[in-house]
Amino acid sequence: MANELPNREAMEFDVVIVGAGPAGLAAAIRLKQIAPETGVVVVEKGAEVGAHILSGAVIDPIGLDRLIPEWRSEDTPIKTAVTDDHFYWLGQTAAVRLPNILMPPLMSNHGNFIVSLGDVCRWLASKAEGLGVEIYPGFAATEVLSENGAVVGVATGDMGIGKDGTPRDGFTRGMELRAKYTLFAEGARGSLSRILIAQYGLDRGRQPQKFGIGLKELWQVAPGKHRPGLVQHSFGWPLDNSTGGGSFLYHFGDNLVSVGFVIHLNYSNPYLSPFEEFQRYKTHPRICDTFEGGKRLSYGARAITEGGYQSVPKLTFPGGALIGCAAGFVNVPRIKGSHNAILSGMLAAEHIADALSEGRANDEIASYDEAWSEGDIGRDLWRVRNAKPLWSKLGTVLGIATAGLDMWSNTLGFSLLGTLGHGKPDAETLKPAIECRPIAYPRPDGRLTFDRLSSVFLSNTNHEEDQPVHLHVADMALQQASEHDVYAGPSARYCPAGVYEWVEEGGKVRFVINAQNCVHCKTCDIKDPNRNITWVPPEGGGGPKYSGM
Ligand SMILES: Cc1cc2nc3c(=O)[nH]c(=O)nc-3n(C[C@H](O)[C@H](O)[C@H](O)COP(=O)(O)OP(=O)(O)OC[C@H]3O[C@@H](n4cnc5c(N)ncnc54)[C@H](O)[C@@H]3O)c2cc1C
Ligand code: SF4
Repeated sequence: MANELPNREAMEFDVVIVGAGPAGLAAAIRLKQIAPETGVVVVEKGAEVGAHILSGAVIDPIGLDRLIPEWRSEDTPIKTAVTDDHFYWLGQTAAVRLPNILMPPLMSNHGNFIVSLGDVCRWLASKAEGLGVEIYPGFAATEVLSENGAVVGVATGDMGIGKDGTPRDGFTRGMELRAKYTLFAEGARGSLSRILIAQYGLDRGRQPQKFGIGLKELWQVAPGKHRPGLVQHSFGWPLDNSTGGGSFLYHFGDNLVSVGFVIHLNYSNPYLSPFEEFQRYKTHPRICDTFEGGKRLSYGARAITEGGYQSVPKLTFPGGALIGCAAGFVNVPRIKGSHNAILSGMLAAEHIADALSEGRANDEIASYDEAWSEGDIGRDLWRVRNAKPLWSKLGTVLGIATAGLDMWSNTLGFSLLGTLGHGKPDAETLKPAIECRPIAYPRPDGRLTFDRLSSVFLSNTNHEEDQPVHLHVADMALQQASEHDVYAGPSARYCPAGVYEWVEEGGKVRFVINAQNCVHCKTCDIKDPNRNITWVPPEGGGGPKYSGM
């Protein structure tokens, strides 16, 4: 069919950036700060900047302080400073607060700010546009353009292809955005980044990347329940000791509370449902009171990288580089990645600006790859590098205790453990259903706990219905013989948006994909036990329209 389509129009830039998250926007701003004449474009698959951003978020301002040193004196969406920092272990009814004095200093949130990261990105986008950056929201980059082994830009997806793969009314051909350098800032499990990592062997000699799925709700709580500046984290219930994860609960803004739950995607029981675990967590006696008399405003989910230092791939290849969570720069025990996203965007921009000033193009910016580990990002990730492996190997209680000791010793400049590995990729950790016990989850009450579909409604997710399904199942027979018959269909549980269903009809089962509900979290692309599902970008502008997330 591609042969019958008209040629794509091409536009030339110095730098093309894929993704308008904190990493991509920081790179764009930094490039313009250094060399205002640089031609920079940012493409964003969300209908607007921030529409696909889902984060906690407590941000460490180190990145912003470097990027926009005067931000504290401006009108920004960064208004709530952290005032209280609580860390709990939860049992089914008990809650034990860990004294802050026991926590390694790097875990402290004092000096940090509670924000909607989507709103921060909207503000950063206005800064970037003010400097002359072109931002194209509603355009998904679907193809890497390569010539002679070097990346020379990206193509955006065609709009108006029908379900049957042929052009329908309103068909518009995608654009070629060609550049001297292309930065991939797609966030966790970026669809093009994943292809580049495989194509250039960027993960050779590194530990496998690890992931979690983070689910989040935004609540407006009763004024009497609001404690602006309070940051609360927990681990333990409702997860068992062998399943990693924990909660966050942040009070900020106008009686707003961000509440969320992250579950490590190396869990083994295919009956586990991250969505239902999150709903259950809110019913804990220590937690539920916050939401009494409140209203749920929004819901969403997104994968988060958890591999840390030892899983960071090589960042560069001829003509481009990975930045932010596309490279996996999250500090897992701090649940923070936005500061490193900004710092990596800036760092890449500085090295690219040098290359452009020397008249170079489409070569490898190897100096960026050499610089990250020696700088702030490397220091931040190095001290916590054993936290995730210890948690995975020893379970929650012992894992967190030993990770705490290791982070303390790293604070003093050494670790007795060296650098631990992660073991298997997350796609390989499920056990066959026959070895596991089904989990009975309580029914939602519609006040504090909810079902998936009413939740997806609050994410404002929408996709043009007449388009090819963007969740590609490579081998449907394998999906049934293995995902369904051996693993009891975990996709119906791990998908936070109810996209996948195994439907029984006349003694047969059928895999139903409700692609229009997809919130672009990327969990299926990570967790399918046969790596049989690939997430590709749907038509630009589709997906969630988060606000305040
Ligand atoms: C539940 C949860 C809680 C978190 N809490 C915190 C926290 O409290 N503090 C903190 O600092 N960090 C937190 N993080 C991590 C933080 O959100 C990330 O580190 C940060 O967002 C990474 O920024 P990024 O720019 O690399 O990617 P993202 O923020 O993911 O942005 C990527 C952007 O690229 C766009 N995009 C992707 N692919 C394409 C494509 N092919 N074409 C066009 N556009 C594309 C996406 O739509 C998106 O807008 C949390 C993450 C999660 C999931
Ligand atoms: S289909 Fe995949 S990417 Fe979409 S919401 Fe479900 S798990 Fe996430």
